[in-house]
Amino acid sequence: MPDLKSMTPEELTAWCKEQGMPAFRGKQIFQWFSRGISSVEEMTNLPKALREKIAQEGQFSAPVVERKQVSKLDGTIKYLWRLSDGNCIETVLMRYRHGNSVCISSQVGCAMGCAFCASTLGGKVRNLTAAELLDQVVFTQKDSGYPISNIVLMGIGEPLDNYDNVKRFLELVNHPDGMNIGMRHISLSTCGLVKGIDRLAEEGLQITLSVSLHAPDDETRTKLMPVNRAHNVDQLFDACRRYFKKTGRRISYEYAMIDGMNDTPYHANLLGDQLEGTIAHVNLIPLNHVEESPYRPSTAKNVAAFQKALEKRGITATVRRRLGSDIDASCGQLRRKAMKAKEARG
Ligand code: SAH
Repeated sequence: MPDLKSMTPEELTAWCKEQGMPAFRGKQIFQWFSRGISSVEEMTNLPKALREKIAQEGQFSAPVVERKQVSKLDGTIKYLWRLSDGNCIETVLMRYRHGNSVCISSQVGCAMGCAFCASTLGGKVRNLTAAELLDQVVFTQKDSGYPISNIVLMGIGEPLDNYDNVKRFLELVNHPDGMNIGMRHISLSTCGLVKGIDRLAEEGLQITLSVSLHAPDDETRTKLMPVNRAHNVDQLFDACRRYFKKTGRRISYEYAMIDGMNDTPYHANLLGDQLEGTIAHVNLIPLNHVEESPYRPSTAKNVAAFQKALEKRGITATVRRRLGSDIDASCGQLRRKAMKAKEARG
């Protein structure tokens, strides 16, 4: 049966016609999905006969709050959602002066194997559907009561490894009949899948591309990110240049600062060589320590020196403020905890 929530209003309209329902019902159904409903009974402007038809001929599901943590420090809210098949994913709501932003997951688990990341420890279980991507935005807004104006695809998973569903999600969340969130308010973060970056460049979307770089040289990057064996640093920067040429959009580089690993003046210089003269923004993120990982965050002194070295070369570099540090608000930590608790219970 078709997954109705993953459909665009245009597809829903066509589906309604096929089912012998009036075409305008398609838009109404889409609007309900963008408001966050869990059952067909909630579609109160649809006649009962139509609601029954929808329930019989199509299907849709909704996530359930498995856990919710609210930061006492900054109001960040972290959700652990249970999906219809029992898998859990995380979404984080961050409250900024310029609006509320939601960080969503793109897969259940992750196949990329980055050495410092909690999301990848259990491997990838499956891709999220477009509906499951959309629901994270819709239900976070509904449950929290905070209107969401920005989205970052920076939660669990590699969005370019779930390309088609992510693309469809962007269309759904951007649609004027739905959440209507502008592409300029959406960022997508990738560990550096070159083919995906090239494909994305062709879409002509106004989203911001973030690239998880974490090291400017192959030796360091391969230690941290296995993906570097498939696409090395040069190939990645080539793809970034092509992306910029095609889209004219500034790329953001994520750089998790790891003590003694990638935070030395040598690394700052190399990164400067790579980025000098390009239109880029570097986001320095003091590493969040993951229990299973041997890596430690850089000292504040080293982070400041690294930032200064980049700025001297004319490269914009900011140090990311840590939000929700009291609630395991970074990548995969909450899901990991829940999985471990389950294992311990047997
Ligand atoms: N797969 C995508 C998006 C998810 S990860 C990507 O790799 O970009 C979101 C960001 O958090 C990435 O930059 C990732 O490298 C970073 N990250 C993961 N674990 C981290 C940790 N322990 N400390 C700091 N940043 C981390």
